[in-house]
Amino acid sequence: MPKELTFADFGFHESLMKAIAELGYEKPTLIQAQAIPLVMKGFDVMGAAQTGTGKTASFGLPLLERLIPSANASMSPARHPVRALVLTPTRELALQVHENIAQYAKYTGLRSACVFGGVDIRTQTDALRRGVEVLVATPGRLLDHIEQKNTMLGQVQIVVLDEADRMLDMGFLPDISRILKLLPAKRQSLMFSATFSHDIKSLAASFLHEPKLVEVARENSTAKTITQRIYEVHDSEKADALLELLDEPECDDAHNILVFVNSKICCRRLTRTLQNYGYQAEAIHGDKTQEERTKTLEAFKHGELKILVATDVAARGLDIADLPVVINFDVPFNAEDYVHRIGRTGRAGSKGLALTLMCPGADDKNLSAIEKLTKEHFKRIRLDVMPRKRPSRYPRKQYVAPPVSPDNGDPFFDEPYVPSKPVAAAQEQPAKAEPARKSEKRAPVAALLGGLLRK
Ligand code: AMP
Repeated sequence: MPKELTFADFGFHESLMKAIAELGYEKPTLIQAQAIPLVMKGFDVMGAAQTGTGKTASFGLPLLERLIPSANASMSPARHPVRALVLTPTRELALQVHENIAQYAKYTGLRSACVFGGVDIRTQTDALRRGVEVLVATPGRLLDHIEQKNTMLGQVQIVVLDEADRMLDMGFLPDISRILKLLPAKRQSLMFSATFSHDIKSLAASFLHEPKLVEVARENSTAKTITQRIYEVHDSEKADALLELLDEPECDDAHNILVFVNSKICCRRLTRTLQNYGYQAEAIHGDKTQEERTKTLEAFKHGELKILVATDVAARGLDIADLPVVINFDVPFNAEDYVHRIGRTGRAGSKGLALTLMCPGADDKNLSAIEKLTKEHFKRIRLDVMPRKRPSRYPRKQYVAPPVSPDNGDPFFDEPYVPSKPVAAAQEQPAKAEPARKSEKRAPVAALLGGLLRK
């Protein structure tokens, strides 16, 4: 039998080995075993891996290893230029990636920082001006810092596009293209994506130079350990259907349940409905402040909160280990989101349950797209729903609606959700703080890639 790979086999510097041991990592994950040697040798890499596979360390550790010779204790910012840049689509993922990198870099003497929108720019400015070797950033806020001359990218040696598919979905291509133009042409580029659309392949073709491909799962596949069920319900019955599913033993016994919805409005309303029926539920969506999101997430992770109702954008990159149940209250508009959503459960070989409510007619097309992408055929299960009585514990007249601000309006709701807007209009948008630049409309990938092509 071949000898099992260990972290010692990579030849990491002792400062990295100390941090790895402290974190309790015993052996490399599959993506780490494949990607680390390639990144250490300086190859460009295209990684097919989702969050939860250990992909952050698969680029974070070798990236730090390559930068260790540049580590120094000088107080001069000029001695600490940005040498590695990691771009992520959301602030949650940026924070998570940075937290990991800071842990790995703990004994290396390399500095790291994280910048993302939606929070005061000044604290980030101070860190950048002191100088950092590794910068984790969301694209919009990074451009703000560059415009304010808080940092420069002229000495970047390694750039990582993390969750590249989501960056494209969120319309970040113009921002990414602007950032890439500020980097030296001679550099190492790494790209990670959970799914491989045509656009992702075009981006990879232009951004990466003779990349090595590493993958830990079949393209667009869903883990075999996840039980997937599709329930047919009428739109007006969806909230009652969800309550029924939540009372089934498989959900009732679960310590954490992640419920996905397609819009912020639905996220707020459904959470309110669940709370009114006595369930422990909180919402996480793009209009929540960073502080609220962090608090909610911590409560969820520590089992103080059982149900998290989330939009795709807000849930992106959440690192929640061992999530037993995912429920799609809405069928996602984008088939790839289905793969991402249910990939939150059944991780690392554990068993997972993914339940989806679909409305015949309205959701047929989206469900067919999911079946095509995942190469699965789902049996539709007809769910006969008994309408529930409104809970008497929470009579409507006792409810005091929170103050409604113009852009955060959410009238009281405790009835099953019936969309009042065309679905597309109510779709979740990227978090406010990180919009694609207004001045540059989202352009087709092919049109933008001209500027990215390597000479
Ligand atoms: P990621 O996919 O990078 O978000 O990693 C998911 C989780 O796995 C994080 O909490 C990491 O700290 C953890 N992790 C990464 N690599 C290893 C490893 N080799 N052994 C154990 N845990 C790991």
